[in-house]
Amino acid sequence: MKITRITATALHVPFTLDVPGGRQHQEALGCCIVEVETDEGLIGHGLTAITQEKVAESIITHVLAPALIGTDPLAHEARWEQMYWLTASRGQTGYAQHAIAAIDVALWDIKGKALRQPIWRLLGAARQKLEIYATFGFEFLDIDGLRGAVRSLSSEGIEHLKMVVGFRALPRRESRSLMSVIREDAKRVHAVREAAGDEVSLYIDANCGLDAYHAERLIRMTADCNLGFFEEPITQNDALAMADLRARTGMPLTCGQNEGLAYRFRDWLMARSVDFVQPNVVITGGFTQCVRIAALANAFNVPITSGGAYPLHNMHLQAGVGNGTKVEWHLPVVAMMKQIYQGFPEPVGPHITMSEAPGLGFELLPQALEAYRV
Ligand SMILES: [Mg+2]
Repeated sequence: MKITRITATALHVPFTLDVPGGRQHQEALGCCIVEVETDEGLIGHGLTAITQEKVAESIITHVLAPALIGTDPLAHEARWEQMYWLTASRGQTGYAQHAIAAIDVALWDIKGKALRQPIWRLLGAARQKLEIYATFGFEFLDIDGLRGAVRSLSSEGIEHLKMVVGFRALPRRESRSLMSVIREDAKRVHAVREAAGDEVSLYIDANCGLDAYHAERLIRMTADCNLGFFEEPITQNDALAMADLRARTGMPLTCGQNEGLAYRFRDWLMARSVDFVQPNVVITGGFTQCVRIAALANAFNVPITSGGAYPLHNMHLQAGVGNGTKVEWHLPVVAMMKQIYQGFPEPVGPHITMSEAPGLGFELLPQALEAYRV
C-alpha cells in the first residue's frame, strides 16, 4: 500500500453549546484536519488543535506531504521517524509535533480500515467501556450557571467533573492580580463542591495559567474541597516546580497534553512531578508516540488519563493501553466536533462504550471542510 495524497485543511468552527442546566453559549474553535489517501482507495483522517492551525496546515502541505507520497502508510514507526527527522531533528517541540500528530492519527485510521479493526483494538483492547469525566466549569459561567450545570450533569449520572481555574491569569497585567483571580476561583470551586455533594470527583485545570506561588495558595484555599487532581497547575509544566508543589501540598497533579516529545514525560516521572500523565494523540505526536509514553509511565506505575480534549480520538488510547483510565468529555469541543464529524459514540451516564467500527470509527461530514475552511 502506498500514500497517494495528503491534504491539510485549517478550520474555524463556530458552534452553540447547550450548557447543562439550560443556558446556551456561542463559541468557535479552530483545528487542522488531515486526509491521507492510499493507492488502494482507503482514506484516513486525522486532526490537530490547540495550536496555530494555519501553521500546522502549512507544515503538512509544504514539508511533510511531499516527502510522504509513495511511502507505506502502515509502517507507522518508519513514518514517525521520517516525519521527526524532517521537521524536528534537534528535538524541537512545538508546531512540528502537531503536524506529525495529525498525520499519524490519519495513518492509524488507515491501518484500522485496512485490518478491519478499531484503533483501540490494535493498541491492545485493555477495555471496551471507559469512564468519562465532564469538563464543564468554564469562565463564561457565573456561580449560578456552575451550580445549574452541576445539578444537570449529576442528574445524568456523571460522576467526575472538571472546572477551569486561573483563567488567563498569566501573563500578568495591571488590571487583574493573580491573587484576585484565585480568590474568585476558590469561591467557584467551593460552590461547585457544595452543589455536587461529596460523592462526585472534582478536578481543576489552570491550563498553565498560574505561577507556583498562586497555584499553592489556591490549593490551600480549596483544601476542604477534596479535589481529585490539579491539571497543568503552573506555567510551562515546570517539572521541578511541580514536584515541589506536589510534595508541599499533597495535591495530585497531572499534565502532558500540550507537550510534543516523550522526554518531557520522562522528566516529570523522574522528578515525581505528577500522579497521572496526559499524552494527547492529536498533539503529542499521534498514537505512535503516545503509546511509547503510556509504556514509559507504566514502568513508573503511573496511569495515563486524557486532557486537552478531543475525546473521540483520545478514547482509543485510553481504551487500548493497560494503564489508560478516563476520557475527558470536554463539552465545548464535543459540540464543535458535532459540526464536523458523524457516527461517533456518545456516553451513556458516566460511561462510553467503544465501537467496533474500523479505524477511528467515525467520519468527516461531507461538507465540513468547505463550510469551515479558513
Ligand atoms: Mg486541560
